[in-house]
Amino acid sequence: MREIEELRSRLHGAGVSFSGMRVLVTGGAGFLGSWICEYLLSDGASVTCVDNFASGLKSNVSHLMQNENFRLVEHDISKPLELSQRFDLVMHLASRASPFEFEKYPIEILMANTMGTVHALEIARRSEARLLYASTSEVYGDPAPEFVPTPESYNGNVSTTGPRSCYDEAKRAGEAFVMAYRRQYGMDTRIVRIFNTYGPRMRSDDIYGRVVPRFIEQALTGKPITVFGTGEQTRSFTYVTDEVDGILRLAYVDEAEGEVVNIGNNRETRIIELAELIKRLTGSESEITFHPLPKDDPKRRAPDISKARRLLNWKPEVSLEEGLRRTIAWFEQRLSAK
Ligand code: UDP
Repeated sequence: MREIEELRSRLHGAGVSFSGMRVLVTGGAGFLGSWICEYLLSDGASVTCVDNFASGLKSNVSHLMQNENFRLVEHDISKPLELSQRFDLVMHLASRASPFEFEKYPIEILMANTMGTVHALEIARRSEARLLYASTSEVYGDPAPEFVPTPESYNGNVSTTGPRSCYDEAKRAGEAFVMAYRRQYGMDTRIVRIFNTYGPRMRSDDIYGRVVPRFIEQALTGKPITVFGTGEQTRSFTYVTDEVDGILRLAYVDEAEGEVVNIGNNRETRIIELAELIKRLTGSESEITFHPLPKDDPKRRAPDISKARRLLNWKPEVSLEEGLRRTIAWFEQRLSAK
């Protein structure tokens, strides 16, 4: 696939190679996890994917099943997992991530990022492996305006009890567990704070759908494009290849040991702007409608990526227009196959 080839040329150009490495990916059947599994396999790694298919999909990894270096373990990582195999790298990505899921599955989300993180850390500790934890821009909550773009040093403005707390506080606790294992056992750990990522394979169904796939599917099917609030709130949308490139550099580079790094596109986009752009790129006749803003919806979100530039020589390469065109093409194909 074009995305995998692009990733290879970017990562090999940066001297990053996973050939011969044994990698465990929790949440490997999810949107980001499946791209990571696919890339690692194509680069010569052996990959064990752990997923309970809570929000991940079998169809995301079915094309990898024939690869003799791929192993799928159906398991909920919030329960302990004993594997006889040893690993060089453990990547803990398993978690539901859609705000609609925060309402319906708050306990599962808390468990995946607290106990799940402990279980991933234990696997890494037994293997003397490096661990990468997939954290989120949500650890910053609703940042004060003077902290946007947000650097890693910002401690956040997060509600401990609001509807998003199950995710935000779980990810914050996950980070604390990672740092505790690092301090107590001297483990090699890395934490990536992922900003809104989009691309092919994202779910658009009601409860799993994030804003980009929802707007695209609404636009392609002629349904109203549902903007929450006035649409003046912002996000920084990162195309999947940019995100995976940054995550894999962070997992690989020796100098990144112990570090916490933002990986996200630094173009800040208003949600209304996103709706209009998707409408234009799809040539849709859909009307844009306005609905109540969910409680605690962050007003602005944009990363300060100077640390990723310095430490990983990483920067986003795919513009929002280009990334959306590719994502729209994937959704068009999927809808016509239906
Ligand atoms: N959003 C929207 N319409 C939708 C879904 C989401 O306007 O149908 C808004 C949402 O309120 C938020 C932004 O889009 O301000 C991003 O939402 P998403 O669910 O993708 O994730 P978040 O960044 O809030 O975790």
